[in-house]
Amino acid sequence: MYRFKQFLEALEHYELIHLKKQVEQGKLDVVKEVQHKIKEHEKKHAADCATCSNDLKPYNSNNYTIMFGSEDFKKKASFCGLDCLEYFLINLKQDKDDVNAEKIE
Ligand SMILES: [Zn+2]
Repeated sequence: MYRFKQFLEALEHYELIHLKKQVEQGKLDVVKEVQHKIKEHEKKHAADCATCSNDLKPYNSNNYTIMFGSEDFKKKASFCGLDCLEYFLINLKQDKDDVNAEKIE
């Protein structure tokens, strides 16, 4: 919410009035705009590989991104190639197996 307040601070008085009218008149659906932005973020690869930290070039066809976790707390991880994705998945599976093993004990 701090960044939202910063956004509002950056607007001029006339822009605030215009924004208020847009929302009141239903011309600006804030929930829809936020959902659209979330979808945009989800579609993009991250800036670097989750395994080796290499920078990911946006148009490299060897990039992979996975999403996991619950709907309200999704996690995203991107990779520079299949080797890094495989390494990540093996570690993730081992971590889960360790957690499950701890629960059983
Ligand atoms: Zn990598």
